[in-house]
Parts: sequence; structure tokens; C-alpha cells
Amino acid sequence: MMFFDNVKNTINQPLGEINGYSIFIKREDLLHPVVSGNKFRKLKYIFKEIIINKIPVVITFGGAFSNHLAATAALGNELGVKTIGIVRGHEWRNKINESNTLSYCYSKKMDLICVSREAYKKKETSDEIQKYLKTISNYRLIPEGGTESISVKGCAEILRPIDSKFDVICSSLGTGGTLAGLITASYKKQFVLGFNSLNSSSALNLVNHFTKKKNWEIINDFTFGGYGKIKPELINFMNNFYKQYKIPLDPVYTGKMLFAIFELIKKNKWRWGKKILVIHTGGLQGISGMNNYLERKKLPILTY
Ligand SMILES: *Cc1c(COP(=O)(O)O)cnc(C)c1O
Repeated sequence: MMFFDNVKNTINQPLGEINGYSIFIKREDLLHPVVSGNKFRKLKYIFKEIIINKIPVVITFGGAFSNHLAATAALGNELGVKTIGIVRGHEWRNKINESNTLSYCYSKKMDLICVSREAYKKKETSDEIQKYLKTISNYRLIPEGGTESISVKGCAEILRPIDSKFDVICSSLGTGGTLAGLITASYKKQFVLGFNSLNSSSALNLVNHFTKKKNWEIINDFTFGGYGKIKPELINFMNNFYKQYKIPLDPVYTGKMLFAIFELIKKNKWRWGKKILVIHTGGLQGISGMNNYLERKKLPILTY
């Protein structure tokens, strides 16, 4: 399948030495303008399976800023598979155009079904969503964030033999699916660090479910208050990071991770090895939506 198999290897871009640590960024964000980074890896085998089995419809879940929803809409549109997004929050029903992500999904012909938060929490077991699913005959459900065993396999492909020279692999973390893939693929003596972007510890169980290895840890100290939450300090860091390295970071995941890495190194709290490979998991479609929000709140915005 051309779309997936024509993928070039992503480069490891050096940041140089920082306090004696050598840091490289794996630019998975350059894989595709929207299906970037880990969402490409996660959806690859899922969509391959959908196309082989000629399943006409894909249904999945996400919030109004979800990279996963945007990636699914873009892929479905590119590969000729109808997509339906079940959106967290009834209130979005009448203001799709206020969310850049949802507007994008709509432009890629995704049907958007906005449900109550209670229904969203229960996903396909809720009455509201079940009633809707009964009206559609042949579909494939993708879990929130795209995390299931074949997407973990896709994420394992992020690491290549050339990466065995690193001591530690860093990735931001939501559900933990990406981290599980990286742990699976990690080389002997490597350590894998996940930087939590949510105020939830559910990733821990998920990672343990997908791997038996023990060479990993989750850092919970840099969530900035939770999923999608942000502080001016973080925005300033990301703008300075871009000025110095010309690498755009996303505000929900990779920005927080790099802030954490720099902070830990600066404060002499880094204890995981000198050669560091940081995975840029993408998510850049979320920048314009975050800037709209920051402008409304009269806060500093991302300037790239
Ligand atoms: C979705 C996402 C993550 C989190 O991935 P999980 O597999 O759910 O842990 C990290 N970074 C970016 C940019 C994402 O879009």
C-alpha cells in the first residue's frame, strides 16, 4: 500500500551538547502534515487491516483538540474510507467552526457526532452511543487515541538499528500506547522514559499490559495541570526552543516533554544516561487551536 510503504526514515536531528548530555530529536513530526508522528505509526496497521477487509466505515473517539481524530479524518479521506468521529461534549454540536481540529476533520469529510461527557466516558457501552452504532452496519471501531495491540506494533517501528547507540529514549505520553511500542523495540541496556501529559496514571497499567520489560519509567511532574493545560512559562520555553533549534513543538505533548528534559538536566536531576534520543511525536495541528485559546485569554501565543 503506497501510502504507508513509501515512508522515508525520519532523521535524528542533533541539538548539540547540553551540560555534557548529547540530545537528538527523531523528527517523526515530518512524516505527514497532519497524520504526523505517532498517529501515523498507530493508524498504519489498523488502516491496512481495514482496507484488506474492505470495511467501509471507521468510527473513533476524541475531544475537540484531538490529534487522533484529525489523523483519522485525514487518513480516511486519503484512502477512501468513510470516517465518523464521536466527539466529547454535546456543546460542540453547534460550534464545530470554533475548533480548528473539528473544522479540519469536517473538511476531510468526517461525520462528527457530539455526545455528552457521560456517554463519552462509557464509549460504546453507553446507551446514547449504542443507539447510534446500531444505525450503521459494517464498521471498524478504533479506541480513543488509537491504542490497541496492532498500533503498539506500529509504534515499535519508530526505533531503528541505528538508534541502538542511545542510552535513553524519551517520548511524551497520553494513553501509553506509543511508550509501549518503544519499550518493545528498545535495545539491550536502553532505558525508556515517558513524560505524562495528563493528570492520570492509567498509562501505567496499559504499558504493563503490552510489555513485560522493566526498563522504563513514567515522569508525572510536568503535566502543567493536566491534558491541554498550559502556562506562559511553557509557551515562552517553546518559542525560545523554536528560535534556537528551528523545531516546532506542540503544546499538549512534546512541548511539556522538552521543557521537562531541559529542566531536569539544568537542575542536575537527570539520572538516565548521557546519549538521549527524544521522539518528536508530532501533534502540530493543535498549534492554531491553542493560539486561538491563548489569544482569547490574552496570554502569550506560540509564534511559529
Ligand atoms: C497522541 C499523542 C501522544 C500520546 O500517545 P499515546 O500513545 O496515547 O501515549 C503523544 N504525542 C503526540 C504529539 C500525540 O498526538
